[in-house]
Amino acid sequence: MAKRKIITGNDPVLRTVCAPVQKITPGIVRLLDDMVETMRAAEGVGLAGPQVGVLRRVIVVETEPGNVYRLINPEIVAQSGEQEGPEGCLSLPGESGCVKRPMNVTVKGLDPDGNEVTVEAEGFLARAFCHETDHLNGILYPDKAEYMNTPDPDPEGEKMTPAAYRRHRAAGKKSR
Ligand SMILES: [Zn+2]
Repeated sequence: MAKRKIITGNDPVLRTVCAPVQKITPGIVRLLDDMVETMRAAEGVGLAGPQVGVLRRVIVVETEPGNVYRLINPEIVAQSGEQEGPEGCLSLPGESGCVKRPMNVTVKGLDPDGNEVTVEAEGFLARAFCHETDHLNGILYPDKAEYMNTPDPDPEGEKMTPAAYRRHRAAGKKSR
C-alpha cells in the first residue's frame, strides 16, 4: 500500500462526475488499498476516488476503526429518515458545516473481489456513505449545507450562509 496525495480546495477534479469501473483490475484493488491507507493517515472516515485524483466510482469508508468498506460503483438505492449534523471533508481542510442527510441508507456496490454487496447503514455511517457517493458526482458537502462554520476559529462562533461561503471560496482564499 502507498499513501496518495489528497486533492484539496478549488481543484476541478473535485467537481467532475466520475466514470463507473468497468473491470476490477489489480490497479483498482491497489487503488482501494492506497485509499484506505491515505484515509487512515489523514484521520478521515471516508475517501472517494476523485480526492486522490482518480475519476472512477470507488470509495472507502471506515467510521469504526477496523470496519472498513471498499466499494466499487456504489449506489444509494434506498434512504429514509433525516439527521442534521456537522460534516467536514479531507479535501476542504479546516472547514465544517451543518448538513441534513437521511438517517438510513441502503448502499449497493461491488467489493474488490467483484461480489455484489449491500450495506444497510444508519446514523454516522449513513452520513459517510452519502458524503462519499456525492464526491463521485462532483458534489461537495458545502453544496448541501444548512450553514458553514466560519473557516477561522471565531470566538463569536459565527456561521456563514451557503451563499456567503461560495463567495468566500470564489474569492480564492486558500483553505488550510
Ligand atoms: Zn469529502
